[in-house]
Amino acid sequence: MGYMRKVSANDLRVMIIGAHPDDPDITGGGLALNFVRAGATVKLVAMCNGDKGHMSMTSAELAVRRRGEAQRSKAVLGVADYLVMDHHDCEIEVNLETRREMTRLIRGFAPHLVFTHRTCDYHADHRAVGTLVMDSAYLLGVPLWCQETPIPSVKPAIYFLRDAFTKPSEMRPDIVLGVDAEMDQLLEALCAHESQFFEWLAFDKGLLSEVPPREQLEARKAFIVKHWMIPRKGHDAQRFRERLAEVYGQGQAERINFAEVYELSEYGYQPGRDELGWLFPFLPQGVFG
Ligand SMILES: [Zn+2]
Repeated sequence: MGYMRKVSANDLRVMIIGAHPDDPDITGGGLALNFVRAGATVKLVAMCNGDKGHMSMTSAELAVRRRGEAQRSKAVLGVADYLVMDHHDCEIEVNLETRREMTRLIRGFAPHLVFTHRTCDYHADHRAVGTLVMDSAYLLGVPLWCQETPIPSVKPAIYFLRDAFTKPSEMRPDIVLGVDAEMDQLLEALCAHESQFFEWLAFDKGLLSEVPPREQLEARKAFIVKHWMIPRKGHDAQRFRERLAEVYGQGQAERINFAEVYELSEYGYQPGRDELGWLFPFLPQGVFG
């Protein structure tokens, strides 16, 4: 069964469900900013509390710190909510309890659009979160499942966040979005995840000696661009240039340096071409025919 009634951008509800506090913003931050500007209600979710991503802090200290970082990112992005759940990093499992949790979470927000990890992503937590969303996709509309949480009047379309993996298949660029105009604000939001970009991830990549000091915000943004944005959003602008040209036209597509890419899951609502226009109101009008 499928149902989707057209709403104005002000009534659109969008949920980005990642594994860790920074996943929704790294992969979907440009998208979130576009939806916020269009007037939609955007909720970011991290299913894990981030308590393993550091080389010297204790897990308990780190979890508190990362909750604070997510809230600072939320303020910069202007999203309605940035929910950080309580699962420990590296420990979220796909089981009945977490399947119920995911169903309640999605039903409770009643989104038109859900974005989450592909189930072939590299981190066990990413795969688990993607799988939980897939496992909930059909169950969202099953009345006898999680009876205490009412079924919303909208069944969401579900999209996958980007990755670069090719097995079993490279992601399909159903939605492409040039995000050059959003990059500065997004980078400011990403700088809020200080324990990650300037400590743990820098340590993990052997880049600690390159980290600019805290007071040099512009240098910190450039550090994130060089080591995280060019390899992701820059890479996606290159590899999906043809798709960008279909959406933006050849001339504009060639000027896009940073792009976000989303693949429609076959399990959620399947929006028609006429519905994509109001579901993604910031994309060039008429592009979906
Ligand atoms: Zn992650």
